[in-house]
Amino acid sequence: MLDQTRVLQALDTVQDPELHQSIVSLNMVRTVAIEPDGRVALDIALTVDGCPLHEKITEDVNRALKVLPEVKDVAVTLSVMNEKERRAAFQKAFEAAQKARQGEPARPESGARISVTPPPPQSSGKKAPIIGPLPGQAAAAGMMSDADSTVIIGVASGKGGVGKSTVTANLAVALARMGSRVGVIDMDIYGFSQGRMFGAKEKAKVNEQEKIIPWSVHGVHLVSMGMFVEEGQAIVWRGPMLGKMMQQFFSDVAWPTLDYLLIDLPPGTGDVALDIAQKVRKAKLVLVTTPQEVATQVAHRAGDVAQKAHQEIIGVIENMSYVVCPHGERMNVFGEGGGQSLANLFDVPLLGQIPLEATVREGSDKGRPTTSTDQNSQAASIFLTIAQRIKQTLGKEAAG
Ligand code: ADP
Repeated sequence: MLDQTRVLQALDTVQDPELHQSIVSLNMVRTVAIEPDGRVALDIALTVDGCPLHEKITEDVNRALKVLPEVKDVAVTLSVMNEKERRAAFQKAFEAAQKARQGEPARPESGARISVTPPPPQSSGKKAPIIGPLPGQAAAAGMMSDADSTVIIGVASGKGGVGKSTVTANLAVALARMGSRVGVIDMDIYGFSQGRMFGAKEKAKVNEQEKIIPWSVHGVHLVSMGMFVEEGQAIVWRGPMLGKMMQQFFSDVAWPTLDYLLIDLPPGTGDVALDIAQKVRKAKLVLVTTPQEVATQVAHRAGDVAQKAHQEIIGVIENMSYVVCPHGERMNVFGEGGGQSLANLFDVPLLGQIPLEATVREGSDKGRPTTSTDQNSQAASIFLTIAQRIKQTLGKEAAG
């Protein structure tokens, strides 16, 4: 007989694509109505309004229920969790991720995944095992030898395309221009683009101690997956492999002494973000969003993940805030208010609003972040102001 128990059992196989937990255990299934003729109507509560993956969830629910022979039709309605429910769901995912890390069986992964093993870096003569088990087992929290005095700033966003990498590159250059010693780790391993943004193409090289020599461009030291593979090649790493890569970017790189180390984090709020947040606990976090509400909600989730891992959010940067028209008036192409409302949610300052400017995109495409040139760019001067604010916030004025 078709009853709630069997329906829920079937639904238990469906995972939230980002949190990698069963939608049943995350309490996303709100109501189940079973008609005598085999029609099943469900209400699924998404963690966030406008969740980009709602179609996948709906498809997966349909597929899971149609496995039951009595089910003739499935009708899914989508609603949104309230704040309390959402936090509970995140807590659950967070705890499950922690358990998985403590040696319990890892969560099953869904979807097709392409795995790319990067080629070893070019070495002068000696073979350097750069990708592989680490020689030392440095604790994740202290992965950099000089890390104690280095302020680590993660740049995060809920979703791709909001300009997180652009902001990272321009902030790094702005801080360097103010005299700070700055490094960047391009941890956006799925969409690494810092090499292009900085105009760095060379494959990885190692020094005598077999440490990776960071690219040094526009006054910034930089490491990226782009040192190992071509941009655009799909890489999907999770768990241990990602952890290893991260650790190598910290401890197997010949980092000079740095005042700031910026990390271009992968977009998203799933277990990859959690992994990183937990490994780099001492990182401060800057959230990047665009002005529209949906982007802000997704960025809110990224912030939640960071807070769960006890990272401190130091501010919000709103990107693509407006376009300056030929007569000087501003046009809010993507709406307005998102950055401020996100800042209010976390009770942190809105560090700045960057306009949508052709010079910003051109600069990124040509390997010259806008802040590295002296052209008449409003965005560049706002980036410099933001960098100044960050320095003030973190009390690092003296170092710069
Ligand atoms: P993300 O890292 O969030 O995926 P990117 O930094 O790669 O986003 O930016 C996405 C695209 O938007 C890039 O082509 C970039 O050059 C462009 N872009 C980002 N910020 C701006 C801006 N303020 N003005 C114009 N173009 C921008």
